[in-house]
Amino acid sequence: MTGLSDSFQRPINYLRISVTDRCNLRCVYCMPAEGVELMSHNDILSYEEIHTVVKAAAELGINKVRLTGGEPLVRAGLPELVRLLAGIHSIDDISLTTNGTLLAEYATELKEAGLNRVNVSLDTLKPDGFEQITRCGNLEDTLAGIEAARAAGLNPVKINVVAMGGINDDELVDFAAKTVSDGWHVRFIEHMPVNGDDSGLIKLVSVKEMRQRIETLGKLEPWKVDVGNGPAKYFRLPDATGTIGFITPVTEHFCYQCNRLRLTADGKLRPCLLSEDEIDLREPLRQGASAEELKNLIEKATASKPQGHRLAEGARKKGRPFSQVGG
Ligand code: SAM
Repeated sequence: MTGLSDSFQRPINYLRISVTDRCNLRCVYCMPAEGVELMSHNDILSYEEIHTVVKAAAELGINKVRLTGGEPLVRAGLPELVRLLAGIHSIDDISLTTNGTLLAEYATELKEAGLNRVNVSLDTLKPDGFEQITRCGNLEDTLAGIEAARAAGLNPVKINVVAMGGINDDELVDFAAKTVSDGWHVRFIEHMPVNGDDSGLIKLVSVKEMRQRIETLGKLEPWKVDVGNGPAKYFRLPDATGTIGFITPVTEHFCYQCNRLRLTADGKLRPCLLSEDEIDLREPLRQGASAEELKNLIEKATASKPQGHRLAEGARKKGRPFSQVGG
């Protein structure tokens, strides 16, 4: 393994893969109510094509992959993809980001196929709030998914909560309390105003504000987390068995520690979520590119990673929706 690093000497070992642009929810911060224009079946990389890309990336030093979407579990046969990726010798961590609605059905099969862990997106603990935020979902399905994932050993199951002023910020303390009562691992994420009109109307709740509210439950002690090397800073409340993580893409960006590339559902390699620059892998793959040629393209994408995102300066008002690029 050679080890991959970008032009700012950041080691790059993590590939985040959007396996589909389709989603069974319409979360207000992610998509407009009518959804977004969908890609055709032929636009989307096949599992074999994703496997070929990951194999080439693994030879360069990628050892962690995360499957996302859209909603990855709406794509038929996802455990089969997990099995293919788990067979790549140097991939040692395969994780999934999901809304959890279909997880109860697939958790055991995914674990058996080689999935290590899951992150479940859940922004409210209220049934009617869930229907409003997702515009069509059912809270019970996601809660059942979380329990099934824990029972299947897909640990740690991390719950991702996007904090939205005026929408769910009255529940931040309730989520934090779950780290004590149920041992949940909860991560609070600042909302990024990037996915269209509805998203633009949501008020930012900064991590600083979130901490102040949560500390009404007790002092947050810094905590080291062994699994996963993402951008969250972790803490624990007194007597909690679960952890609280904070992710600050808006008020304190963490680009200096970015270790990832993204593969979009239609086979473009994205050096940065918040930049529209992409390198196409799909056409080369379908023209029969060799492993060496793919590796050259992956190295080119890595070398073009920007030093940091420019959200604060208003960049990326009209980019591709997160459902396509794997938010
Ligand atoms: N369907 C899956 C899910 O719900 O987790 C995977 C795709 S979803 C786009 C991935 C993550 O992006 C979710 O945790 C979601 O909360 C987050 N996300 C989407 N739009 C966001 C925004 N505007 N700001 C912050 N996080 C966002």
